[in-house]
Amino acid sequence: MLVNMKQVLSIADAGGYAVGSFNVYSYETIRGVLESARKNQIPAILAFGERYLENMDFETAAAMVKSESKDMDIPFALHLDHCTSLENVYRAIKAGFTSVMYDGSALSYSDNVANTAKAVEVAHACGVSVEAELGSLASGEHSHEGSTADEEIYTSPDQAEDFVRRTGVDALAVSIGTVHGLYKGEPNIRVDILRSIKKQVTVPLVLHGGSGTPENVLRECIRHGIRKINVNTEISVFTVEHIKELLKETTPHLSVLSLQQINAIKQVVEKYMLMFR
Ligand SMILES: [Zn+2]
Repeated sequence: MLVNMKQVLSIADAGGYAVGSFNVYSYETIRGVLESARKNQIPAILAFGERYLENMDFETAAAMVKSESKDMDIPFALHLDHCTSLENVYRAIKAGFTSVMYDGSALSYSDNVANTAKAVEVAHACGVSVEAELGSLASGEHSHEGSTADEEIYTSPDQAEDFVRRTGVDALAVSIGTVHGLYKGEPNIRVDILRSIKKQVTVPLVLHGGSGTPENVLRECIRHGIRKINVNTEISVFTVEHIKELLKETTPHLSVLSLQQINAIKQVVEKYMLMFR
């Protein structure tokens, strides 16, 4: 059942767990995430990014998700990930997305507040939830989203409190040491910063850069208020490696390759879905 992100995250909050947000940009990724949610009866978030507009437009993504989820009774949200353009936020809402992330993290603080508040005003009028980001994640290997900076800018707990109050966002993405993509060295996750943010902010907190983050660290983050964890890179890397191995042995029909992709995607998605519980 397609609901907004606020509803999905309130279920997770009541259960004390985090919902996985998995990137979708093709028929295979959409089926992989929906089938994993259906099979395990675990809520999920399907995240389509602005950068995937070359793969499909908002209307196609929404239509495919709706068609593939007709018999789903488990709640899930269709989310627009890392969107730096207000126009695209509005287009996604019109196309049927139930959640949007306006990413003004590269702007000045005041511009980020002003633009996020605009996104919230329109989204809430349409029953759509809004996520925003404060601070900025560093970019790891195979990174496919966010900024391309090597330096992490940690979220300030005081600013987080002010930001949430002034914008009315439903969820806040925090920067505490995870990276977009795969880690280049040892992860250094600042759970102390997360705990300070949690004391000041009542909305659910979001962790980007789930791929490759150690399980014990993820569990610690969930204990301290993380309710949504984004996973993108590992799904792609694992699936491409799986297909490469397959192609060494055989030359399957393209339709079989599509099914093989779905199976590989499901392996990574289910691993994280179960880990986040
Ligand atoms: Zn991200």
